[in-house]
Amino acid sequence: MNAELQGWLGGQLETLRDQNLYKKPRILESPAGGRVMMDGKEVVNLSSNNYLGLANHPKVRQTALEAIEKWGVGAGAVRWIGGTMSVHDELEERLAKFKKVESVLAFTSGFTANSGCIPAVLTDKDVVISDELNHASIIDGVRLSPARYKKSEGFVFGHKDMGQLEEILTKTQNFEKRMIITDGVFSMDGDIAPLPAIVELAEKYNAFVMVDDAHASGVLGKNGAGTASHFDLYGRVDIQLGTLSKALGAVGGYIAGSKNLKEWLINRGRPYLFSTALPPMVAAALIAALNVMENDPEPMKRLWDNTRWWKNALNEAGFDTMGSETPITPVYVGDEGEAQAMERMLWDEGVYALSIVFPTVGRGKARIRTMPSAAHTQEDLEFALDAFKRVRDRLSNPVA
Ligand SMILES: *Cc1c(COP(=O)(O)O)cnc(C)c1O
Repeated sequence: MNAELQGWLGGQLETLRDQNLYKKPRILESPAGGRVMMDGKEVVNLSSNNYLGLANHPKVRQTALEAIEKWGVGAGAVRWIGGTMSVHDELEERLAKFKKVESVLAFTSGFTANSGCIPAVLTDKDVVISDELNHASIIDGVRLSPARYKKSEGFVFGHKDMGQLEEILTKTQNFEKRMIITDGVFSMDGDIAPLPAIVELAEKYNAFVMVDDAHASGVLGKNGAGTASHFDLYGRVDIQLGTLSKALGAVGGYIAGSKNLKEWLINRGRPYLFSTALPPMVAAALIAALNVMENDPEPMKRLWDNTRWWKNALNEAGFDTMGSETPITPVYVGDEGEAQAMERMLWDEGVYALSIVFPTVGRGKARIRTMPSAAHTQEDLEFALDAFKRVRDRLSNPVA
């Protein structure tokens, strides 16, 4: 063991602990759900992206079991070398129909779909124009590309600031290609990108649009088809990224767009070329999840009923949900220490809801991030609401 490396790691970890930024995940001991066993106790889980409850849906489970019987557990290779099974093709065809696009290419995660697609479609003659609150996987994908993208060079617009976006578009006309990239639903604030305005500006200034719909997949649009569907922008968003890891309940990501885009990514998308295919049982489970989404309106209805109830109840109790428009419901706290104290006290009350602090969000903008889902019962949410109220009362009146 190299002493320099170990010393450096120890020092870095100590700094994280000193700054209250050190993460140690709790251990989930049951399937994902509204109520889970975690670190040996039963809690209401408000920190899962299992929006539709599909991670443990009986039909999805059954299909995965049957797929293991048929296919075994691994694809055996990267896709182009011999890891593409008919179940992968079937999944992509289903997703293309679902998204109403020509073609879809699946990746092993949303993260790798970003790092596979973004650098593949850009050259050093291009520029990326980004919303300042874009997800880390977009930022990493952009960093892997030879295009210009930096905030310090003026290529990042303020959150949802369409005036600034237009300004950047007017100043970047000498680049060959211009990519505007945004989250569809912002992962920490739960608000929705102004996609109609972005598409109009892109069309006006001859730029193209990529939307990362990780948190819109299964949540917004027809049967959960995403933000393009939600705003009826079919055919006007050049590249859509979806995840199969959140609402769809398993793992994976995909890029939806033209046939040429898919063929180009098969040839130039590095995670596609150099990383093993999704397990076939996962691909099969995802097809079953799509079947549920397209044929059973109940999970999405319950997701949105629970979302509306939860936001209203919090607002009526005087909590600030920061203008969220989707199931992602931040509960504003402000102070980092207080948010962390609140997280610990909620845990003691039997509620698992994580605090989100700098650097994931800005300094002084700490919050508890809550995610109601179709997997929660009314009792789960009422239980959680009571816990939030009790914790707030104790925090504002520490002696009582
Ligand atoms: C979660 C997330 C991803 C990554 O998706 P995975 O399938 O979990 O890798 C990408 N983009 C956004 C906006 C996300 O929230």
